[in-house]
Amino acid sequence: MTQRPMHIETKLIHAGEPKPRIEGAVTLPIFQSSTFQYAGQDHYDKLKYIRMNNTPNHLALHQKLAALENADDALVTASGMAAITTTFLALLSPGDHFLVQDCLYGGTLDFMNSDFKTLGVSFDFVNGNEPDTWARQLKPNTRVIYVETITNPLMAVADLKAVVAFARNHGLISMIDNTFASPVNFRPAELGFDLSLHSCTKYLNGHSDIVAGAVIGRKDFVHKIAHKLIHLGGSLDPHACFLLHRGLKTLAVRMKHQNESALTIAKFLSDHPAVETVNYPGLNTCIGYHLAQELLDGFSGMLSFEIKGDVSTADAFIARTHLPISAPSLGGVETLITRPVTTSHSGLSPAERKAAGISDRLIRLSVGLESTEDLINDFDQALI
Ligand code: PLP
Repeated sequence: MTQRPMHIETKLIHAGEPKPRIEGAVTLPIFQSSTFQYAGQDHYDKLKYIRMNNTPNHLALHQKLAALENADDALVTASGMAAITTTFLALLSPGDHFLVQDCLYGGTLDFMNSDFKTLGVSFDFVNGNEPDTWARQLKPNTRVIYVETITNPLMAVADLKAVVAFARNHGLISMIDNTFASPVNFRPAELGFDLSLHSCTKYLNGHSDIVAGAVIGRKDFVHKIAHKLIHLGGSLDPHACFLLHRGLKTLAVRMKHQNESALTIAKFLSDHPAVETVNYPGLNTCIGYHLAQELLDGFSGMLSFEIKGDVSTADAFIARTHLPISAPSLGGVETLITRPVTTSHSGLSPAERKAAGISDRLIRLSVGLESTEDLINDFDQALI
């Protein structure tokens, strides 16, 4: 009998779980052991050791994450930044060049701006929604094109199909940071991306209690990145593996609520007379709305907006809200509110922020699992 492909809700619970279950344990226990008894391994990489990313906690996560995105393989890392930096360091060499979307998570941008010069690697920005302009930036040594599924903090959706086609036509590795969408809303391997990167600190764990990352995609690349990770040492601790594994099981129900709640809140804000602009890929006023409708199964719990006035108006609004916690990060059960200029994008210079279109008064919201009505009531009283 041919087995039907499982839905993501089912994979979140069952994919990668050890068979048979260890001592019958329904939940995979934490293997808090740095080293494991030698079993005749013929290669250093095969020794069982936490830094080799091969404890039972790591292996179960690798299988589950690969299954979620219908990809060949996966690797967990000590943070989202460890996933991004290790991937670049594994796949690029001095003299290489890459193309990168012009609006990115601030930490990624800061890494590129500050670290690549000394490594002898160069890059150029591309506008994700203008594929006709990308070829102009190509060089004989261009190796990679890198984008985010939904950009942070302006929530733009690039022409992701064009990214894959462009990479194939020009022999580039296509990489995407899929943190904001999560595998529930987008599975890059299905479209043909070579590698998908995640900050699992966000939706995948979902409870704001660990930092973790993941690389998901083509086996040959994941293998190379795993080898580099062993050298750089950015391995995920088994206890954090356990918490990520536990968080993943509820990803689909959390994401469904967050998709719906953020869309309702985005509509409320865009109809409010005190609000000037709302960035959310589920609104037809946003760049990439049509692409988002075509490519994504949901638009995530992330939105950003500007209210009429200046920075002090934005800060006064944030101070008047009762439910959202003013904190960086995103994707947890609690609603978080922040001005990216003071948090996620504070590492950029004012000129870089201006070039990326990030104003000082921009407010970013990560919608949690509270009642949508309670959140809207709170925003309503704070928007005077
Ligand atoms: N990618 C995106 C889109 C992010 O928003 C972040 C962090 O905010 C990262 C990567 C880095 O993740 P981490 O903080 O887990 O290193």
